[in-house]
Amino acid sequence: MKILSVNAGSSSLKFQLYEMPEEKVLISGVFERIGINDSFYTIKLNGEKQEKHVDLPNHKVAFEKLVKELEENKVVESLDEIKGIGHRVVQGGTYFDKTVVATEDVIEKIDELSVLAPLHNPAAITGIRAAMEVVPNAVQTVVFDTAFHQTMPEENYIYAVPYEWYTEHKVRRYGAHGTSHKYVSRRMNEILGRTDTKLITCHIGNGGSISAVVNGKCLNTSMGLTPNAGLIMGSRCGDMDATIVTYMMDKLGVSAREMDTILNKKSGLLGVSGVSSDSRDIEDGIKDGNHRCELVQKMYVRRVLDFIAKYYVEMSGCDAIIFTAGVGENSISTREQIMDGLKVLGVTLDPENNNTRGKEIKISGDDSSIPVYVIPTDEEVMIARDTYELSK
Ligand code: AMP
Repeated sequence: MKILSVNAGSSSLKFQLYEMPEEKVLISGVFERIGINDSFYTIKLNGEKQEKHVDLPNHKVAFEKLVKELEENKVVESLDEIKGIGHRVVQGGTYFDKTVVATEDVIEKIDELSVLAPLHNPAAITGIRAAMEVVPNAVQTVVFDTAFHQTMPEENYIYAVPYEWYTEHKVRRYGAHGTSHKYVSRRMNEILGRTDTKLITCHIGNGGSISAVVNGKCLNTSMGLTPNAGLIMGSRCGDMDATIVTYMMDKLGVSAREMDTILNKKSGLLGVSGVSSDSRDIEDGIKDGNHRCELVQKMYVRRVLDFIAKYYVEMSGCDAIIFTAGVGENSISTREQIMDGLKVLGVTLDPENNNTRGKEIKISGDDSSIPVYVIPTDEEVMIARDTYELSK
């Protein structure tokens, strides 16, 4: 059965077509700069990558191009072969704790939740509508980033602000990257050969979040009402004294919206270093002796350790720690620094295994009190698996 996995952003659309249940990727690609000038798309087929420059005024046109590529490259004989299309949606609020079929009622709720994810939810709806029009016979499903975190107990999702903010305005911790935390925690349980586990999953990429996962269920996670909570990220500040916001709004005379942009786009690695939001550039800056790059790297590692320590205590122990996403899978030095901070727990490093990028590997020593693994994440295959189950 062929299943399409789709991730629509405000100006982009990523896709992978799978043969299920084998989980074989038949074709993948990404459409970029949709609705902007100089739009283009790249597709990867049989190990070859092609880039094509075309006008992409909206997501529907991008979807039509996608379908044309599938037909012209004979990946499908007829569109009816695509039985399911799974869409990634960032914010599912408290409505959704699992993947669902995209009915009109579901789309209405995603729309209602746009206030909590103004950049992401409307884009996802555009993608769902485009797919419904272009491939009407496929089952359309919605996979929510927040769904995995719906098992958190209320003491972990209520903020210490007036309770009415929660009841009247939906202010609570929702978390994000749920599909990734679910994927790596399941894979870790497979490796350990058991499901009664206490895991700390570190999804550290441009965005970053850490979760405490007990017996396959989320107990706590570092992102909050929005993705700007918890860790220091590429350009997001993560946790800080909330009063800084109002204090600096007064000082700078900026609006709430402008402040939101500063905290999401001009803070984090970029804000402190003044160099870049990309950890590769920070590593280069450190090699060149740039003090602010050294400083932000120390802060970044410290914050990751804060959450590992917090969740270790909250779970009364830990059976494995997992690194994933761009930094977690690739930054040898960041992993080494985090592991160094975990020595106090009896964690040891296998330097040779740690000296690898982008592959599944145990990076802790055989004598380590807690096994530590790198597990490359695969959110697309999770979308395909759920969609396959709902399309069967
Ligand atoms: P993601 O958001 O998961 O795609 O992660 C993207 C981020 O991963 C980039 O912005 C970099 O900060 C980081 N990254 C990717 N490759 C490397 C690498 N080889 N070394 C250090 N950091 C990397």
